[in-house]
Amino acid sequence: MQPLTSTITAPSIAAPVRETAVALRRSPVLGASELSRVNAELEHASPAEIVRWAHERFGARLKMTASFADTALIDIATGVAPDIEVIFLDTGFHFAETLNTVRRAMERYELNLTVLRPAADAADVWERGSDACCAARKVDPLANYLPRHADAWLSGLRRADSAERASVPIVSIDKRGLVKVNPMANMSDLDYQTYIAERDVIVNTLAFDGYSSIGCWPCTEPSTDRSGRWGGSKTECGLHL
Ligand code: SF4
Repeated sequence: MQPLTSTITAPSIAAPVRETAVALRRSPVLGASELSRVNAELEHASPAEIVRWAHERFGARLKMTASFADTALIDIATGVAPDIEVIFLDTGFHFAETLNTVRRAMERYELNLTVLRPAADAADVWERGSDACCAARKVDPLANYLPRHADAWLSGLRRADSAERASVPIVSIDKRGLVKVNPMANMSDLDYQTYIAERDVIVNTLAFDGYSSIGCWPCTEPSTDRSGRWGGSKTECGLHL
């Protein structure tokens, strides 16, 4: 059974609409020479300037994902493109604090929010580090939705997040053939915290209880880095591989 998708237009969640499987894109919308040139040009650009380039290049075919650990990227992106479609992967196992962060963000930013859900019969295989569960509840719903609705997407990855993310590019071609843009890649922890404070960005209240990285409740413990995810058995869910 295929993953479900729905759009929140009000604080309540609309009934899900079925999506069908899609094939991976065969040719990227950004050629190798443009990709190299753009990365060189944007390496020292601000996050807002990077979003602006992506919005001018891809228009409404630019989307963004949000985990709602905070709304820093939402704040940056909606400052450039107020109507940008924000995609939230509702795994069914989010903390109440995360869902509350979604509601607060909807109120503040009047988000154009799309909620993607797993197939109704997705197995509850959420033991720590379960690749099958992350695939069914995160990777597959996004893989089924993005290629039919987007040419490019924004992600909140920062090089300071972890050793695995230390060299993430500003712009790349993902495994689906879509253009992936990381506007905050160059933000240091200090830059990031300064931005949050200066812009009074909404922060998931779990952060004040020691959760520096926030995922699903069965797989997340308080920690000062991403080692609190999946009991330390892995550090990525598969969305960014
Ligand atoms: S983080 Fe845990 S509960 Fe959430 S999708 Fe992955 S394995 Fe499942």
